[in-house]
Amino acid sequence: MNSTYFTEEHIAFRQSFQKFLQKEVVPHIEKWEKDGVIERFIWKKFGDMGYFGLNYSEEYGGLGLDLFYTVIFLEELQKINSGGFAAAMWAHTYLAMTHVAKEGDDRIKREYLIPSINGDKIGCLCISEPFGGSDVAGMRTMAVQKGSSYVLNGSKTFITNGILSDYLVVAAKTNPALGNKGMSIFIVDRDTSGLSATSLNKLGWKASDTAEIAFDNVIIPAENLLGEEGKGFPYIMQHFAIERLVMSINAHARAEYALEYTLQYMSERKVFGKNLNEFQALRHKVAEMASEIEMCKEFNYSVAKKLNEEQYAVKEASMAKLLSTKVADEVIYHCLQLLGGYGYMEDYPLARMLRDSRLGPIGGGTSEILKEIIAKIIIDKKDYRPAT
Ligand SMILES: Cc1cc2nc3c(=O)[nH]c(=O)nc-3n(C[C@H](O)[C@H](O)[C@H](O)COP(=O)(O)OP(=O)(O)OC[C@H]3O[C@@H](n4cnc5c(N)ncnc54)[C@H](O)[C@@H]3O)c2cc1C
Repeated sequence: MNSTYFTEEHIAFRQSFQKFLQKEVVPHIEKWEKDGVIERFIWKKFGDMGYFGLNYSEEYGGLGLDLFYTVIFLEELQKINSGGFAAAMWAHTYLAMTHVAKEGDDRIKREYLIPSINGDKIGCLCISEPFGGSDVAGMRTMAVQKGSSYVLNGSKTFITNGILSDYLVVAAKTNPALGNKGMSIFIVDRDTSGLSATSLNKLGWKASDTAEIAFDNVIIPAENLLGEEGKGFPYIMQHFAIERLVMSINAHARAEYALEYTLQYMSERKVFGKNLNEFQALRHKVAEMASEIEMCKEFNYSVAKKLNEEQYAVKEASMAKLLSTKVADEVIYHCLQLLGGYGYMEDYPLARMLRDSRLGPIGGGTSEILKEIIAKIIIDKKDYRPAT
């Protein structure tokens, strides 16, 4: 445990969250992975325990805690080996709810943030579109104001919690002529007429639902606009830093979990009359992987500290996600190799980890896009500070 960042209270929270996960979540994981559906009761239990409100304001039912409670929440979710379950939980809490909390007015917070914290309402964030996810500014979904409503048309894809959520936080163009200055964010209720969702089948994250969403003349009350019209793009950019940190922490935690499991296996598995952990070539591989994980973890904690202090950390959060997701993929790939044929079997955790981990360098800004951002910051001296 790193005492630079974690207090006694953090450590106690980690222990109690671990116990909660083992008791309330782990017994159901195999079923949820198989069905591709996370049952509703667990959302409510998370809500009752306050886990969705760790860093949200006490005024709306949150706990108002520092970001290192979130770090612990994310790390421990990775250590029960269901990237899909973890994703469903953090996409609700740190993708959808971030917009509700930061840009929502008091009415929106009462109608959506409080029940999100309680576990009564599930949210999802709809930015990516079938025509392109990386080019956010190029989105085609349109919201046209008509009197006291907006009429939404278009489609979104790859949306985590896209089937089961009760509300959708949706980015759409309100003035396409203005490019990324003509984008806005809305809250849309699931049962709004004209909204439909289709489930997508995918490589990993099996427990989480991922959907394509269609909006066919969906009428949204104008007061469901989040923040100011035309400010959608800066809002999205502003929150990418926390989203990327979330994915960085997930990455170092799942790599750490994979290595811990593999070390245990190596201490028990005998080949040629010796334990696996006695072979020098394998010991060196372990040393290399442990060093990479530790470097990522320490760096991710330093980024968490910056974001906790509300410092501008677009460069650092982008670097953290770029490297941590790469290291996680490589570590999990090699850990599976160290288990030999057992690594390839579904009865052992590495097979699922390999599938789940692959999303790391794709979701929430691909590695290529992150390299573009980092290059623009360090070569062109670009400043991504939002104009809000
Ligand atoms: C399981 C899953 C869950 C997801 N959940 C959500 C969600 O909840 N909400 C949401 O909004 N989105 C979600 N996404 C979407 C995700 O963020 C996008 O897939 C991602 O941003 C990439 O967009 P794309 O798939 O359209 O790829 P594209 O943008 O088509 O890119 C294709 C390839 O080209 C590369 N590329 C693109 N532009 C450049 C460039 N300028 N230079 C170099 N290379 C480039 C990309 O890196 C990628 O390798 C999810 C995706 C998955 C798979």
